[in-house]
Amino acid sequence: MGLFGGIEAGGTKFVCAVGTGPDDLRAVESIATTTPDETIERVAAFFRRQPEQPAAIGIGSFGPVDLMRGVITSTPKPGWRNTPLASRIRDLLGVPVAFDTDVNAAALAEHRWGAARGLDTFIYLTVGTGIGGGAMVGGKLLHGLIHPEMGHIRIPHDLARDPYMGTCPFHGDCLEGLAAGPALERRWGVRGSDLPPEHPAWALEAHYLALGLSSLVCTLSPERIILGGGVMQNDWLFPRVARELQAVLNGYVQAPQVLDQIDQYVVPPLLGGRAGVLGCIALGEGAL
Ligand code: ZN
Repeated sequence: MGLFGGIEAGGTKFVCAVGTGPDDLRAVESIATTTPDETIERVAAFFRRQPEQPAAIGIGSFGPVDLMRGVITSTPKPGWRNTPLASRIRDLLGVPVAFDTDVNAAALAEHRWGAARGLDTFIYLTVGTGIGGGAMVGGKLLHGLIHPEMGHIRIPHDLARDPYMGTCPFHGDCLEGLAAGPALERRWGVRGSDLPPEHPAWALEAHYLALGLSSLVCTLSPERIILGGGVMQNDWLFPRVARELQAVLNGYVQAPQVLDQIDQYVVPPLLGGRAGVLGCIALGEGAL
C-alpha cells in the first residue's frame, strides 16, 4: 500500500502529514498560515523533503470553499479569498489531490478510525474560533449545494438572558456568533479557557450548543454527534451539552441513544486533534 499526504488547511496553521493512518503517521508538521504564496510553497517543501513521496494528497480546508473547483472562496482572511488551493498543490507536487472541508475530513477520519466507526450517519461539529460541521449521511460525506454551514444556523436568542449581539459578520447572533470562542471572550471579557467550570458562561454555552444540535438532530437524524475544537477541550462540558440537548428535544426524538445513552451520543473525537489531518490522509487515499 502506498503512502498518502494530508493537508489540514486552517486559518492559523496548515498541518501537513504523510502516512497511512493513526498508527502510521511518518511525519507531521505545522506551518503558520501567512500569505497564500508563502504558505503553499512551505507546504510543498514539506512534501518534497519526505524520503518517500505520497501517491496522492488530501486537503481539508477552512472555508467557505468551492468543492468542485478546489477553491477557498469568500473567506474574510486577508489575501486568501479565491485561492485555488487544490490546483496549486496538484501543480507543485504532480500527484492526484482530493479536496473537502476541514470538518468533513475530520468526520471521515472519525468514521474510519475513531468515534464513528460502524455508523453511517453522524455529524462532526467543531467549536473553536468558529463553528463548523461535517456530516456523513448514509455512508457518504455530505456536500450538496456548497457544503453544510452548521455554524451559521439561527437559534433562539433570549436578549433578556443574553444581551450580547454576537460576532458573526454576516448574521450577528447565529450559532457561531453566539457560541464560538470569540463570542465567549467578548461577552465575558476573558478568554473561554480562563472561565472556571462553575461560571454562568458555561450554562449559556451548553444551552446554545444544544439549540444548534437539536436542529441538526431533527434534520439529519445523526446516530452520533462528535464535538471537537478548542472550546470542547473541557471534559465537563460534554454532559452539560448532552443534558441540555435532552431538555431541548423534550422527549420527542424516541431513540434510546438520546433518551437513555446520551453520554455515548454526544462525544469527543477519539482521534483528538489529529482527526483533521488523518481525515486528509483518508481523502488522499480516496483520490487515487
Ligand atoms: Zn453566521
